Amino acid sequence: MKVLVTAGPTQEAIDPVRFISNRSSGKMGYALARVAADRGHEVRLISGPVSLQPPNGVGVTPVVSAQDMLAAVERNLDWCDVLIMCAAVADWRPRNPAAGKLKKGGGAPTLELEPTPDILRRVAPRKGGRIFVGFAAETEDPESEARRKLREKSLDLIVANDVARPDSGFGADTNKVVLFSRDGGKHDLPVMSKQEVARHVMEWVEGQGKNAERIGS
Ligand code: C5P
Repeated sequence: MKVLVTAGPTQEAIDPVRFISNRSSGKMGYALARVAADRGHEVRLISGPVSLQPPNGVGVTPVVSAQDMLAAVERNLDWCDVLIMCAAVADWRPRNPAAGKLKKGGGAPTLELEPTPDILRRVAPRKGGRIFVGFAAETEDPESEARRKLREKSLDLIVANDVARPDSGFGADTNKVVLFSRDGGKHDLPVMSKQEVARHVMEWVEGQGKNAERIGS
């Protein structure tokens, strides 16, 4: 299969040297890209700013902002069979980023924020027969939130990440996740390496691909 993965945070400019971002390390998305490539899939990775080595054989498109990431996903969507939106896209951006560096002496600026484009919602009308996988960073009631996002973002699978635990979520090498699928399925996985989580996700995706082939034949 052709697998498009997004990873890392996005950065939203306040001025040319300052930005709003989040604690995403990119480790989960890079693990997905590596595992998918190792399992014989063609992989393209769209990555926000992270300090990780791209996996062997994986083409990387570096992006900075949510707007850049949206454009890169739109450019690659026709190519892919599977979109895995693992990136922690910033939810808000400064409405009017300054063209020049804001001066400290000018008093503390007030930032007016606006929502960034929701990439999954924007590309949903072009989904066709593609498999869409999303991630959800949750601290409370993961199931109802994850199921709502699954529906609202046209996803086939959502990986709910417990970001309240020290051994899970942003920056950790391990993750505690629950997989919720569109058909009502639920897999509560124990704490495991991000590599192992990636393997579970890819096994689920490959299972879906096989079902589609059977239905189509
Ligand atoms: O709504 P929330 O941000 O929790 O949804 C998370 C999922 O949506 C992730 O898969 C993330 O990559 C994706 N997302 C997106 N565009 C945004 C924000 C999140 O596609 N602006």
